[in-house]
Amino acid sequence: MGDYICNENTIFAKKAKQIRKRRINISMETLNLSKKLCLLGEFLFPLNCAACGGTLLSEEEAWIGLCGECAESFPLKSEKRCAVCGRPLISELEVCMNCRKNAENAYDSMTLLYPYTGREQQVLKAYKFGKHRSLARFFSEKILYAMNGLRAGKALPLEVPWIPVPPRAGKLKTAGWDQVELIAQTLENLYHVPVLRCLKRLASKTQKKLGKSERMTNLKGRIICSGEAPEEAIVFDDVFTTGSTMKVCAEALKSAGSKRIHGVCLFYG
Ligand SMILES: [Zn+2]
Ligand SMILES: [Zn+2]
Repeated sequence: MGDYICNENTIFAKKAKQIRKRRINISMETLNLSKKLCLLGEFLFPLNCAACGGTLLSEEEAWIGLCGECAESFPLKSEKRCAVCGRPLISELEVCMNCRKNAENAYDSMTLLYPYTGREQQVLKAYKFGKHRSLARFFSEKILYAMNGLRAGKALPLEVPWIPVPPRAGKLKTAGWDQVELIAQTLENLYHVPVLRCLKRLASKTQKKLGKSERMTNLKGRIICSGEAPEEAIVFDDVFTTGSTMKVCAEALKSAGSKRIHGVCLFYG
């Protein structure tokens, strides 16, 4: 459990190199051969920075797929957020206008890290569609740090399992990987975070071109909880747009017996 605590300044702190080496050792012990080879490849042939395209000059930079300057341009802001959906509040007090109008959500809290615009969008695309898989480590650190903040405020125990939003049916077979699953593996292997893969997505139409109500209809009953539902859990995803996917995941877990579900997404649109 020693590696679970993650500090946002870890990467560029004075002792970053030592910490990084320790993490590499941990990963090398726990990862299987194909993963070891993959890691080795990243270090022998480092990619360019996913945000600015500059050459990655150090082991630390190659480890997270971003140059130092770009990595620092992703601070976690401590601005006031909506108590329901996690979006920044403009002039409202606790709950945003959108959440006041709409019916309540099945999740108990939502943490959203970055707006899905400009550089953020570019970095996620580089991760999802390019070959910048080392970004999974950068995202894992950020997502952990954000949830540690919630933990400090709301006493969320370390044992609370993390549940990845499941990929569409057959994606792992056809694409060979899934961007959320890779973050799940990183959380498990590097930080020893308890990950539970109890949500399954049944075949449905792709969500991309659908509106909010269509997304809900399309997904309703298509994400199921297989196996025992934990009493409390953190459900995580890469992008939060209409919130339908998170809502359906939380509903599936609650109807299977979960009492409290916290959501966290890297980007919000
Ligand atoms: Zn850069
Ligand atoms: Zn809201």
